[in-house]
Amino acid sequence: MAVITGSSLRRKIMDRDKILLTPGPLTTTLRTKLAMLRDWGSWDADFNAVTAGLRKSLLDIVHGHETHVVVPLQGSGTFSVEAAVAAVVPHDGHVLVLDNGAYCKRAAKAATLMGRRCTLSSFDEAAQVSPATLDASLTADPGITHVILIHCETGAGVLNPLQDISDVCATHGKGLIVDAMSSFAALEIDARKLRFDALVAASGKCLEGVPGMGFVFIRKAILAGCEGRSQSLAMDLYEQYAYMEKTTQWRFTPPTHVVVALAEAVAQFEEEGGQPARLARYTGNYRTLVDGMAAIGFKPFLDPAIQAPIIVTFHAPGDPKYDFKTFYTAARARGFILYPGKLTQIETFRVGCIGAIGANEMAQAVQAVALALKDMGIASGAPAL
Ligand SMILES: *Cc1c(COP(=O)(O)O)cnc(C)c1O
Repeated sequence: MAVITGSSLRRKIMDRDKILLTPGPLTTTLRTKLAMLRDWGSWDADFNAVTAGLRKSLLDIVHGHETHVVVPLQGSGTFSVEAAVAAVVPHDGHVLVLDNGAYCKRAAKAATLMGRRCTLSSFDEAAQVSPATLDASLTADPGITHVILIHCETGAGVLNPLQDISDVCATHGKGLIVDAMSSFAALEIDARKLRFDALVAASGKCLEGVPGMGFVFIRKAILAGCEGRSQSLAMDLYEQYAYMEKTTQWRFTPPTHVVVALAEAVAQFEEEGGQPARLARYTGNYRTLVDGMAAIGFKPFLDPAIQAPIIVTFHAPGDPKYDFKTFYTAARARGFILYPGKLTQIETFRVGCIGAIGANEMAQAVQAVALALKDMGIASGAPAL
């Protein structure tokens, strides 16, 4: 054990949390963090009231009280994607995954591991998935029962055309499962306009809670058919739903601190002005970021027309002195956590625009990036031609 000297103690006290420019976990407010400083009994009425209030608020966000129920689930967001597929798609169903990135491939892998027949419809990772192509695929293969769409493909940051895809699925009478993990609460999702069987999001993304639970909106009309379908004990959404309705409790130990932090985060979301206000703040973050980065030479990977204001992929600088690890460490030393790229072909890095941060933090982040380049002796962020 190192002895804590006066100065290192002082340094520890002065240490501020780094700003997380990552798509979850992300920077949370002090108020959200403080909500976790209490212990809660999982059987206790006070805690169960928090869960009930949270479920109501989540349905409010999508205007889904008439059409959908919401089922919270322990674990990271991927747990809920896997659970949604297992609950919604019959064992002999056939899933078509609209694939334009890493999270699409992850959803396809989950569906395959759940034993569902799964087909990929592949698109360029720099493009949106196409409703017209989906329409043709569903016409060509009437055996397809469900479509999986990633709303914002966090791999590159593409915003996919949710309304159009939902309309095509409705026309063909196919089930739609939406992974709205990185878009929920920031981009509009209105269950009165969209038809979806399941829509999945999580605590630690644009609601600005801490990670540890997901939640799935399930269409009431298909709920009864989900009973007994999941081959998982712990991740059976129907059982979780039925137990919660009957007892007000979670089926197995709830992530109590995550739940109360999310309830506090949702209260702040509502006070801020809900989804439109959150989108406005993130759009401001996005503009400050891309304008500032452009001024020091950086080029975004995507066409701005299909870019969601959630996470931005930048080309790596073309200078041979560039190395992501060194760059990351230099930005980190200034208090900002960047995110590696997730593209297979070219070298990139990503910067998130989400979390309890505003234009000031984004401007400081650009400054940190500029200083990181200077440390590395790189004159410009411009990519190789
Ligand atoms: C964050 C995210 C997930 C879930 O990832 P976890 O690591 O399981 O939290 C799933 N899909 C998308 C599009 C995401 O952005």
